[in-house]
Amino acid sequence: MLNLTLFREIFYQSRIPQLISSIDFTMVQFNPAFNEFVGYSSDELEKLSVEGISHPEDMITDKRLFKELLDYQRNEYQLEKRYIHKSGEIKTGVLTVSRIKERLTGEEFLLGQVLDITEKKQMENALKYREKKYRLLAEHSSDIIVLHKVDFTCLYISPSVKTILGYQPEEMIGKSPLEFIHPDDLIEIRKQQICAQVEEIKLITYRCRKKDGSFVWIESTVKALTDTETGEVKEIVTVSRDIEQRMETQDRLRKSEKLAVVGQMAAAVAHEIRNPLTPIKGFMQLLNAEKEMNPVYLKIVLDELHRVEVIISEFLTMAKPHTKKLTNVYIDHLVEQVVQLLKPDANLTSKELQIDVERSNLSIMGDPNSLTQVFLNIIQNALEATANRGLVHIKVMPDSTGVTIEIIDNGCGIPSERLSKLGEPFYSTKERGTGLGLMTCYRIIEAHQGRINIESQEGNGTTVTIWLPFKSTNS
Ligand code: ADP
Ligand code: MG
Repeated sequence: MLNLTLFREIFYQSRIPQLISSIDFTMVQFNPAFNEFVGYSSDELEKLSVEGISHPEDMITDKRLFKELLDYQRNEYQLEKRYIHKSGEIKTGVLTVSRIKERLTGEEFLLGQVLDITEKKQMENALKYREKKYRLLAEHSSDIIVLHKVDFTCLYISPSVKTILGYQPEEMIGKSPLEFIHPDDLIEIRKQQICAQVEEIKLITYRCRKKDGSFVWIESTVKALTDTETGEVKEIVTVSRDIEQRMETQDRLRKSEKLAVVGQMAAAVAHEIRNPLTPIKGFMQLLNAEKEMNPVYLKIVLDELHRVEVIISEFLTMAKPHTKKLTNVYIDHLVEQVVQLLKPDANLTSKELQIDVERSNLSIMGDPNSLTQVFLNIIQNALEATANRGLVHIKVMPDSTGVTIEIIDNGCGIPSERLSKLGEPFYSTKERGTGLGLMTCYRIIEAHQGRINIESQEGNGTTVTIWLPFKSTNS
């Protein structure tokens, strides 16, 4: 049989704040844990009433339940209650009060125990506050912020979906956004396996169906939220915005650049067409005079006619609208064609165009029209930068993963403070320049997952280095 002293020890040693009191509350004993919990000594506590250490709002329930206990309506009660520490700090505890009976004498006592949950409460409150803050941010964002389940169905969608797509947030909850993506873009998006690499934030652009049935260009960042312990994807967050206007601007710029290049080319091409036409006319006149067919003359006529054909087909490539279709392109052939196209013009101003191909038949995946546009722009820039007797040297060099094309000129160069401005639209130092060429080049190379780099020394010349991968990932 365990003795009373042992129980007394347990009561005093316990880390749980406790008190024992007579039913009429005239004799109360607190354990040191309780003293620590409220910050008062037992003597101080005896002078203070329960009200003195309790939050007034919680006192009402406490009193009601206490009365029920005294009236034998219950043997025990429990409530979450705020206490006021001596320092003024609010502590939260789960109070359990029970009635206990001394077996021998039949005398009754009250046992009060408090489970200190202050820290847990503070954490909960901080969490609630944080959630409220983030919700507020989401609700007022002009972007559409969506929380998805792992299968992409929407759990939460911010109200801006109404302004951008016309749907009420409730209409989208539980649905998969994939239902709203344009079928052509969906194929692309599926290829990218958005969730395969969870750590990365992915950027996707696609057309999204609005409530009125029309489509709008949207750009979304996709990020998976993972469980910190298991690394398993729990939810997915996407932030999406309307990029319709940006797409339109890009489209307009691309068109205006095309017009400018075509305009500049028109002069050179017209000249090129006139040149072979002169011998054709001459020999035809000779034929006419001799009234018989000389096979040598005929060959010359046919050769020159073939040349006209080549030039005209090049010119048509330029004028054709930009397509996003990727095909096999022999990049060395393409660069050589551009050089052939520009050579007559260079010769006319006594400039030299030199090309070195390390290995021929280098096939990459790309759009021949836009790549032609890139090399035309860059080689033309190089020619324009050099004065008479200028030299533009082009090198085509393959490596294991792609092809590097270097365009080196000994022209005027670019001052270092201007170097950073290259690629910005409308930056031009030429009287008739558009300042759109390089910007278009940057974008086209980027679309081919390639790289472009410009190094220059004022007065000494410029080197433009373009690298294109053999296989780009969207091929
Ligand atoms: P544009 O040729 O119509 O002026 P670009 O975008 O092609 O427009 O080029 C922008 C500017 O960059 C040019 O006006 C020129 O000042 C500078 N630039 C580009 N390439 C070279 C180069 N190879 N050497 C010197 N300056 C260059
Ligand atoms: Mg240019």
